[in-house]
Amino acid sequence: MDYFHYSENLLHCEEVPLSKIAQEVGTPFYCYSEKTLQHHIRVFKDAFAPISNLICYSVKANSNLAVLSTLFKEGAGFDIVSAGELERVKRVGCPGERIVYSGVGKGRDEIKAALEYGILMFNVESRSELLRLNSIAGSMAKKAPIAIRVNPDVDPQTHPYISTGMRTNKFGIPFDKALDLYTEAAAMEHIEVLGLDCHIGSQLTSLTPFVDALKRVLHLEKKLSALGIKLKYMDLGGGLGIPYEEEQIPPHPEHYAGVLMAELVDLDLTLILEPGRVIAGNAGVLVTGVEYIKQGEEKQFIITDAGMSDLMRPALYGAYHGLQPVVRRFGREESVCDVVGPICESGDYFARDRTLPEFQEGELMAVRSAGAYGFVMSSNYNSRPRAAEVMVRGDKFAVVRRRETIAQLLENESIF
Ligand SMILES: *Cc1c(COP(=O)(O)O)cnc(C)c1O
Repeated sequence: MDYFHYSENLLHCEEVPLSKIAQEVGTPFYCYSEKTLQHHIRVFKDAFAPISNLICYSVKANSNLAVLSTLFKEGAGFDIVSAGELERVKRVGCPGERIVYSGVGKGRDEIKAALEYGILMFNVESRSELLRLNSIAGSMAKKAPIAIRVNPDVDPQTHPYISTGMRTNKFGIPFDKALDLYTEAAAMEHIEVLGLDCHIGSQLTSLTPFVDALKRVLHLEKKLSALGIKLKYMDLGGGLGIPYEEEQIPPHPEHYAGVLMAELVDLDLTLILEPGRVIAGNAGVLVTGVEYIKQGEEKQFIITDAGMSDLMRPALYGAYHGLQPVVRRFGREESVCDVVGPICESGDYFARDRTLPEFQEGELMAVRSAGAYGFVMSSNYNSRPRAAEVMVRGDKFAVVRRRETIAQLLENESIF
């Protein structure tokens, strides 16, 4: 469910035509719908309302301050993976007790900053990290609150680059080592063991891997309890998929919540979830201008002013994104074409061999489902300034991140 729709043949975000934003802001730009973000986080929160829970939106999916602020006002907490993300959630006023910190490579300064701010817990990913946390917390005369991220070794059946819960992935502690590490952690002077964590992957379209993982971690929780290690939090990470293509509809959050809660009844644990994509993905589009239509030997190329430096998902994962004309005209012929960017890489494409209505030079195209892992993964490759970001609220819009300038790109460089 999102608030992007055609009205009088113009693609709108809520009540604002995307063509109007393009006129004022130029292309390419990302456009986020505030109402869609609010709707997504509410549905998710409501689905888990029957049990004690904390929804920590995964900041890495889309970390724009306007997005974070919208979600924070709806009661979300945050899952962060760096000191930079910590700074962002501080800026929107999030208190420490609503922040969890994930990631395999937490640096010393990052750990210090998070301890200083008093976050809810660190999701620890290795024994070395645990030792480092204990030592830094000791030097600050504090206790570091932790969960251990275990790797439940289930196959999430998603793209290999976004599978994280298998034995061969770099994430988490191997399942059979977890008991020993918990015992060690519980004995550390500056560690407070609070929870158990797992996150098995992203863009999951089946509930089975989530349930398998939950069963495994609950089994571990029972063993810990028997050893006298009582947990307060069960963090199941994120990973619920979204419909990028109409043919592939992932489970609704209510269904997801239903099957997880069925396993959790009678347990005195607060459930933490770290949804990212399911909140932000379909709340954003990337609007790009068609620069050229080029007839190749075998097919037509539509060359857009946005490229893999703006939206990397197709190049990185072969990901599918819906493409639509911003101005709908009837009676367009359809043809099979490639939609490609201006970057000097053959991997720079948004669609390959896609049947699309005929586009003309100078037209606007919307790349759908670009709200998560879109702008956040953008780069300055080919010395291209990053796109503007816009948020719509009803019939109003605001630029929430100005388009970068070439001067800004060069700011930190000098000639030796
Ligand atoms: C990326 C990530 C998430 C969010 O995943 P989504 O698929 O966007 O919901 C949650 N937790 C951790 C630890 C992650 O790395």
